[in-house]
Amino acid sequence: MKNLKIAIQKSGRLNEKSVQLLKNCGLDFENYKSSLITSASNFNLEILFLRDDDIPGYVEQGIADLGIVGENVIDETQAKVNYLQRLGFGKCTLKLAIAKDSTIQDLQDLNGKSIATSYPVILKSFLDEYKINADIQTISGSVEIAPGLGLSDAICDIVSTGGTLKSNGLKPFADVRKSEAILIGREGLEENEILAELLQRIQSVLRAKETKYVVLNVEKANLPIITEILHGVKSPTVVPLAEEGWVAVHTVISEDDFWGKINVLKSAGAQGIVVMPIEKIIL
Ligand code: ATP
Ligand code: MG
Repeated sequence: MKNLKIAIQKSGRLNEKSVQLLKNCGLDFENYKSSLITSASNFNLEILFLRDDDIPGYVEQGIADLGIVGENVIDETQAKVNYLQRLGFGKCTLKLAIAKDSTIQDLQDLNGKSIATSYPVILKSFLDEYKINADIQTISGSVEIAPGLGLSDAICDIVSTGGTLKSNGLKPFADVRKSEAILIGREGLEENEILAELLQRIQSVLRAKETKYVVLNVEKANLPIITEILHGVKSPTVVPLAEEGWVAVHTVISEDDFWGKINVLKSAGAQGIVVMPIEKIIL
C-alpha cells in the first residue's frame, strides 16, 4: 500500500505534542534532526517537518496527505482542506489588545484606528462582520511592541496566558477566534485504509487522555452507592478482597468528573483510592 505523508511543525509550539501524539499511536520514527522527511518503521506513514504556515498549502495541493496545524493558520491561509479531528492541544485565542491606558472602549471605537497583526485575513473578516473600518498593519512577528512604538493603536495576536501582553503594557480587549491543533486531510482522502487506522489510533489515545483508571476499596454494604457515583465505560468491575465483607472496585472515569466526585466517594466509604493513567481506550 502506498505510504501516506503527514506534515507536522518542524519546531515551535506544536512540534513536541504532534510528535508525541504520533508516538502514542505506536508509530516508531526519528524526530526531526536535519532530515525534513522521515518514515515510520512500523506504519505506512512518512512524516514531513515544515513551518506551520506552509502546512495547509502542502495538504491543499496534495503534496502531503495529512497535516497537524492550528485552526488559526488554516483560516488565515484559507486552504481548502478537510477537518478530520480536533486534537485538544495548542489551545489559544486570537485577541484584540490595546495599551493599558488606551481610550478605546468598545469595538466601534476601532473605526479609523490602526491594528497590527500577523493574521490580516482573519482580522479583516472579523472587522467586516462588525462593520468596522480600521487600517490593518500586517507584520510578521513581535506584534506586541507595535502600539508602544506608535505603529498601531491596537494589535490582534495569539494569546494563551496573557503574560506577553502584560509585559508589553497591553491589555486584552476582545476575542477574535479560538483555536486548537487539528488534523487536516487533503480532499479525496476519505476512503483510505491507512487514514482509517491512524484515526482510530488517534481517537483511542485522545479518549484515554481524558480518562483515568480508578481502583478503590469499599465495604460490600456501601457498594450500591459507590457504583451509583461512578459511571464507567460500562459497569465497574468488583473483585472480592481477602478481608471478608470488602471489595475492590475498578472503573474508568473522566478526569474532570473525578475531582468533583472524590469527596463524595470518600464520604460514601471508599478507601485506598488509586488513580492511574490509561494509555489507550479502544471501543
Ligand atoms: P513556524 O516556525 O512553524 O512558522 P510559528 O512561530 O509561526 O512557527 P508557533 O509560535 O510555534 O508558530 O505556534 C504554532 C501554533 O501554536 C500557533 O499557530 C497556534 O495555533 C498555537 N499556539 C498555542 N499557544 C500559542 C501561544 N501562546 N502563542 C502562539 N501560538 C500558540
Ligand atoms: Mg508560523
